[in-house]
Amino acid sequence: MSVPAVPAPADPGAAFAGRRITVAGLGVSGVPAARALHSFGALVTVVNGTSGERQQAEAAELEALGVTVRLGDGDTLPDGTELVVTAPGWKPSSPLFAAAAAAGAEVIGDVELAWRLRGARAGKPVAPWLAVTGTNGKTTTTRMLAAILTAAGLRTAAVGNIGVSLLDAVLGDEPYDVLAVELSSYQLHWAPGIRPHSAAVLNLAPDHLDWHGSMEAYAADKGRIFHGNTVACVYNAADPATERLVEEADVEEGCRAIGFTLDAPRMSELGVVDGLLVDRAFVADRRNKAQELAEVADVQPPAPHNVANALAAAALARAYGVPPGAVRDGLRAFRPDAHRIAEVAVLDGVTYVDDSKATNTHAAQASLTAYDHVVWIAGGLAKGAEFDELVRAAAGRLRGAVLMGADRALIREALARHAPQVPVVDLERTDTGAMSAAVAEARRLAEPGDTVLLAPACASMDMFSNYNQRGDMFADAVRAASPDPAAH
Ligand code: ADP
Repeated sequence: MSVPAVPAPADPGAAFAGRRITVAGLGVSGVPAARALHSFGALVTVVNGTSGERQQAEAAELEALGVTVRLGDGDTLPDGTELVVTAPGWKPSSPLFAAAAAAGAEVIGDVELAWRLRGARAGKPVAPWLAVTGTNGKTTTTRMLAAILTAAGLRTAAVGNIGVSLLDAVLGDEPYDVLAVELSSYQLHWAPGIRPHSAAVLNLAPDHLDWHGSMEAYAADKGRIFHGNTVACVYNAADPATERLVEEADVEEGCRAIGFTLDAPRMSELGVVDGLLVDRAFVADRRNKAQELAEVADVQPPAPHNVANALAAAALARAYGVPPGAVRDGLRAFRPDAHRIAEVAVLDGVTYVDDSKATNTHAAQASLTAYDHVVWIAGGLAKGAEFDELVRAAAGRLRGAVLMGADRALIREALARHAPQVPVVDLERTDTGAMSAAVAEARRLAEPGDTVLLAPACASMDMFSNYNQRGDMFADAVRAASPDPAAH
């Protein structure tokens, strides 16, 4: 299989020794970044705007090592700062970065830091990165990719925007051959120098525009994932914006553009033929032949957008040289995370599906179009989204809609405009029993063979702690309604 195409520098840690470095933000990225930089001899100051109990505990831990921590002021740049390492969520417009620019200090994120520290842990192999971004499907695709690489006998992990931080993956004890790396648009914004072996952009729809400032800026940040790729840039043939990012990318000589499609693949694409995932990109005679990789039924769940995720994961694995059998075995071994199109129960011939993770309209549209007749439970915090396109696309499939949450009126109005025939239940209540009431209303509207789908198209924080709690409450309400104890 392929070897790391971008060599790490000889002594990466030395680049940080003795330098005055400011870490912006404590928490999951800041604490490991401060520790790592301190261990390489940097003079580290951590700044954090808030000063709650958690921050004080984290500060105490770092101060015990000799790191300076300043709580309660995230705006003022410490004197003499040469480099700022920021947590991904900090807005580019934060005053700290204006001060850094004025002082001539570079600003990078923890992902860029991890990239620059590859090879700093003596005796550990330098693992190339196979990277994944997109508006939706990142976590699923990255985990599918890790499952495929594992099935090929490689030492790997799904890292980045998921569980394990990249710094831990790069500097920790575990030796990896290759990493499956999920990158958010925020992380990419602060990672100008990373050069993945290969990368995929799954799709591009408006999201987080308040942070990036515009759709162009958001797309440009996502597109960074392709820069410096050495083997393959993977795009979605059904989403021309992703292909444009490949065209604009500055890649290494010989790097190929590889598409994925739910249709029969053209040359240099992976696609679907007669219920099979096939590869017409990484085969010898791709002009005339395609290689079978797996059955569509091997993908869990086999909803169209998830088959697309599987094809993207397969493309990255094949770019790395993984054999076809491992793609199939990896996809079969993969188990989706909770709250992502998870089937909860079947009651009276009606299937109840929890896609609480569908927190934006693009995700909700993908899951709605996976079912023929749907009673849709939706609503929450819209984050500035518009619902017309989603409702127009799903109108023919809707048996009914149950709306809840702060911005439900926006969805109700879109339904009135584009699907006036669809019965709508508008739930005003926001108490802890609201989800049970929503499930009861959906049950009343559903007919045998239908799907009751929680795909809110909105964030959850107006009524729930997070999308996990929202999904759990949905599943609990469904199970409580079930006469079948086996479903409990
Ligand atoms: P992310 O990590 O990008 O948030 P996840 O894999 O966690 O993505 O999936 C989040 C939600 O996005 C899923 O619950 C599903 O509704 C939707 N989704 C997943 N894959 C896709 C895709 N390829 N296109 C559109 N929506 C998708």
